[in-house]
Amino acid sequence: MQVVIIGGGAAGFFGAIACAEAKPQLQVTLLEKTNKLLSKVRVSGGGRCNVTHSCFVPSIFSQHYPRGAKLLKDAFKTFGAAETVAWFEKRGVKLKAEPDGRMFPVTDSSETIIDCLLQAARKAGVQIKTGMGVERIEPQTGANGNPFFLLHLSNGSTLLADRLLVSTGGNPKLQGYDWLRELGHAVQEPVPSLFTFNVPASPLKELQGIAVPHARVRIAGQKLEYEGPLLITHWGYSGPAVLKLSAWGARVFHEQNYHFTALINWIPERSEESLREQLQSYRKAHPKKLVSSNPLFGLPQRLWKALAGMAEIPDDTKWAELPARNTNKLVESLLRTSVEVKGKTTFKEEFVTCGGIDLSQVNKRSMESQRLPGLYFAGEVLDVDGITGGFNFQAAWTTGFLAGKAIAASIL
Ligand SMILES: Cc1cc2nc3c(=O)[nH]c(=O)nc-3n(C[C@H](O)[C@H](O)[C@H](O)COP(=O)(O)OP(=O)(O)OC[C@H]3O[C@@H](n4cnc5c(N)ncnc54)[C@H](O)[C@@H]3O)c2cc1C
Repeated sequence: MQVVIIGGGAAGFFGAIACAEAKPQLQVTLLEKTNKLLSKVRVSGGGRCNVTHSCFVPSIFSQHYPRGAKLLKDAFKTFGAAETVAWFEKRGVKLKAEPDGRMFPVTDSSETIIDCLLQAARKAGVQIKTGMGVERIEPQTGANGNPFFLLHLSNGSTLLADRLLVSTGGNPKLQGYDWLRELGHAVQEPVPSLFTFNVPASPLKELQGIAVPHARVRIAGQKLEYEGPLLITHWGYSGPAVLKLSAWGARVFHEQNYHFTALINWIPERSEESLREQLQSYRKAHPKKLVSSNPLFGLPQRLWKALAGMAEIPDDTKWAELPARNTNKLVESLLRTSVEVKGKTTFKEEFVTCGGIDLSQVNKRSMESQRLPGLYFAGEVLDVDGITGGFNFQAAWTTGFLAGKAIAASIL
């Protein structure tokens, strides 16, 4: 029996290894269209590979996926972050968690992960063929009534497969999914996720490099907001709060052609009422202090000065002299700095695709297509994507593992 895995990325390797290890007598062949295997693993996490996230409760882990959370919540019960850590450890790769939860190999090198996957595939007897893309899948039915697939390859040859795992990753264009749509699969339109906001007329442009550990970014007119570290850049705003918001709002932002108003709250842990009280008591306690040169709430000096400037408070204004009108403006700029986003920028080349194979046509336990028995999906080709922090690789490991195991189990 011939099992073919299409795509030599994280999901394809995990699927191939899981299948070959579960049924060593199977012939498992992995086809990769380029000459490079695991190329995203190599560049991921700045060359360190953020393998997963140290969160071991499936229902909580799955909350980090704007798309696919429901499918993954159950899948993580079988193969989640704990199983990933154990999987790599069993094969000699120890992972460590950073304070923010991201997990990396202790070597801090993605090559460690690549070596491990290549070695595990070799040991399990997976045949790897690079420079071999699959251009078309032709479903067939054998004399015994069993399905099989005729694969048309980029070198003009064909190959037969009894089971097929499609793990070809995301594609920025809908046409990139045509070969799968031809098989009857619905595809959610692909749009980018994980990007930073361009704000050409940012009132805080001069402050590039300043980071605030805890801000809230809200999108005007939408139910979209996210809290976390925020970084001011020379082109706009970045940092986890923005990146994660870009994932949750990927579709909405695309529909708005990446033009919208974002409202930044620099001190989200305070209500407006308590902020006003705190400003009032500070004013009473320090009437002679200059407003703009004495930052409050732990905000960086330059940011505070800029926010005071946006509230039209001259540098020489003392707290006792601050008119109510400017106090109100200061409250506004602290809680609702309004910025006009006009475009996006990819974050450190790290991006994922929102969209892909519609999950309603995929069996949630086995990742098998409900349209074509014998055909399975894993990884980013599915309409599954997570926020940054190791969640995208975890989705690839999990769906690859489930598909590989299910393929092996489907062959008697
Ligand atoms: C720069 C960068 C950094 C990242 N860093 C992280 C990180 O640290 N942590 C994290 O969780 N996520 C990270 N991600 C996201 C993560 O890399 C992806 O979500 C993950 O690689 C998806 O795995 P995959 O196997 O589904 O797809 P891919 O890794 O994209 O692999 C698919 C493979 O299939 C091949 N292929 C495509 N079509 C065909 C075909 N027709 N025939 C044969 N082969 C084909 C492709 O060439 C490719 O090798 C990063 C992404 C990028 C771009």
